[in-house]
Amino acid sequence: MNIILLGPPGAGKGTQAKRLETGRGMIQLSTGDMLRAAVAAGTELGKQAQKVMDAGNLVSDDLMIGLISERLDQDDTKGGFILDGFPRTTAQAQALDEMLEQKGLVLDYVIELRVDDAALVRRIVGRYTCARCGQGYHDEFQKPKVEGVCDACGSTEFKRRADDNAETVTSRLEAYHRQTAPIIPYYEKEGKLKTVDGMAEIDEVTREIEAILG
Ligand code: AMP
Repeated sequence: MNIILLGPPGAGKGTQAKRLETGRGMIQLSTGDMLRAAVAAGTELGKQAQKVMDAGNLVSDDLMIGLISERLDQDDTKGGFILDGFPRTTAQAQALDEMLEQKGLVLDYVIELRVDDAALVRRIVGRYTCARCGQGYHDEFQKPKVEGVCDACGSTEFKRRADDNAETVTSRLEAYHRQTAPIIPYYEKEGKLKTVDGMAEIDEVTREIEAILG
């Protein structure tokens, strides 16, 4: 099964993708994670992307389409993939359709997580992850059981994304509404769109996604 998780930053795409990875053996392909890895490694792509990401804008379609096309050729995607953060523009959605056809792959569902903007800022500004295992936490909504210690792996080091601050969040939400939301009707026309209430509890959202995937 190959799917897209679509929704604004903070909608829960990454959280749900991680659960599907564990439960179904699918692989999460997060373009944001790929770009952050490139920034950390100091590659040419990372250098080009960093300023754009810090400003909360979108990296160019050409770069992103090339990145995901190469990633889809790797063997670990054969058990099914979850696109998280791609496509983010109509041009990316069209390029994805073309590359899937060329590669003989089928997209099963596009699952939109719908969340109010007001809730997103609070969700994003408070979130952080374990620096070792990537387990997600939140200052208000999901603290570790023992303060300062990761529930999953016991690490005491945590990190926050550079772009998870109040100013950048506003630009990222604007970019979502202006450039990404227009792809929703594109997938509706293709008959692939399913919408889930992303304001529900994390477990409930997972149940709804599982019900769609069958
Ligand atoms: P994310 O982790 O998905 O929130 O992405 C973080 C940042 O990476 C975004 O704000 C963009 O600057 C960039 N980015 C990630 N995916 C894409 C994409 N498909 N197209 C353009 N820019 C992207």
